[in-house]
Amino acid sequence: LGLTAVSAAAALTLTACGGESGDTSSEASKGKIGVILPDTKSSVRYENFDRPYLEQAFKAAGVEYDIQNAEGDTQRFQTIADQMITNGVTVLVVDGIDSNSAAAVQRKAQQQGVKTIDYDRLTLGGVADYYVSFDNVKVGEELGKGLQKCLGDKEANIVYLNGAATDNNATLFAQGAHNILDKVSKYKKVAEQAVPNWDNQQAATIFEQMWTQQDGKIDGVLAANDGVGNAAISILKKNRAAGKIPVTGQDATLEGLQNILDGNQCMTVYKPVKQEAEAAAKLAVALLKGEKGQTNGTVHDPEGKRDVPSVLLDPIPVFKENVKQVVDDGFIKKEELCKGD
Ligand code: BGC
Repeated sequence: LGLTAVSAAAALTLTACGGESGDTSSEASKGKIGVILPDTKSSVRYENFDRPYLEQAFKAAGVEYDIQNAEGDTQRFQTIADQMITNGVTVLVVDGIDSNSAAAVQRKAQQQGVKTIDYDRLTLGGVADYYVSFDNVKVGEELGKGLQKCLGDKEANIVYLNGAATDNNATLFAQGAHNILDKVSKYKKVAEQAVPNWDNQQAATIFEQMWTQQDGKIDGVLAANDGVGNAAISILKKNRAAGKIPVTGQDATLEGLQNILDGNQCMTVYKPVKQEAEAAAKLAVALLKGEKGQTNGTVHDPEGKRDVPSVLLDPIPVFKENVKQVVDDGFIKKEELCKGD
C-alpha cells in the first residue's frame, strides 16, 4: 500500500510539473475527450457526418471519448457537460445551441480545470482555448456568389432566409452573402428573416408568408442551409415555381444535392466535415496531453473582446456541374444520390 501511495504521489508531481519524460501515453490515457453536438434537426450533418468522423479521428488517436447530442435542449446541454466532467472528461468540445448557454458550460468547465474547444460555432463571450470551423464569412460569400451566378445580371428581387439569430455562424453567413449581393445594383432585397433554431418547418412558414406578401414576385432565395432551402423549395413547388427561382443551401446533404440535380436548387456549400472533425480531434488530443495545438489564424469574439486561436478551413461551392466532387470526396455515396434514376 505504502509503495503504491508513494509512486502515485510521484506520478502526480510529475504531471503537475509538466513531466519531462516525454512519455505522454499514460498521461493521455488518464483523461477523456467529451463532445457535445447541438441538435439533430437543424441539419443532418451532426449525426450523419460530425459524429462518425469524430469517432474515427478519436479511435485513430487511441484516446477515450464520449460524443453526445443535446437535441436542441440547452438544459440538457449543461447536464451532459456536468455528467461528462464527473465521468473524467478533461477536454470538452462544444458545438453550442446558443452562445449564452454554451458560455455558461465553458465557464463551469474552466472552474473545474477542464479545457474547452469551440467546434463549428464560436461561443460569443465564451472561454474556449481554441476554435475549429470553416471561414464562415467565406461560406456566406459563396452563397452570395452562387445566387448571383444562378440569377445572372438581370433585375432581381431577393429574399434572405437566414439561420438562427442565436448562432454566430448565421450572422457571418448573412454578412458574407450581403458582401456580395449588396454590390449588385440590379438586385433588391425585398425581405430578410432569421429562422429560429434553423427549424425547417418554421422556414417554410416564413417563406410562404414572404411569397404571399411579395405576391410571388421573388426572383432569388438566399437560404442559409439545405434544410432551409428545401423548405423554400417545398413552397415553390406548391406554387408551381420550383426550378424557376434559384435557391441556395449549405452542407451538401443528400437532399440538397438531389434538389440541385433535379434543377430545384441553385447550389450548396460543401464543407468537408471530415477535415473539421480531424482538426478538432487533433487539438483536443493536444490539450489532453497538456500540449499546445496548432492553429492557422484567429477569430474575433466581439462579446468577449478577445481573439480566439483558430483552425479555419475552406468551404467549397457546389453546383450541378461539380456535384461529383462531393461524391469523389466520399461524403455522399453515389448509389444514394442516384437512387431512382
Ligand atoms: C452550421 C451549418 C448548419 C447549421 C444548422 C451552422 O452553425 O455551420 O453547417 O447547417 O448550423 O445546424
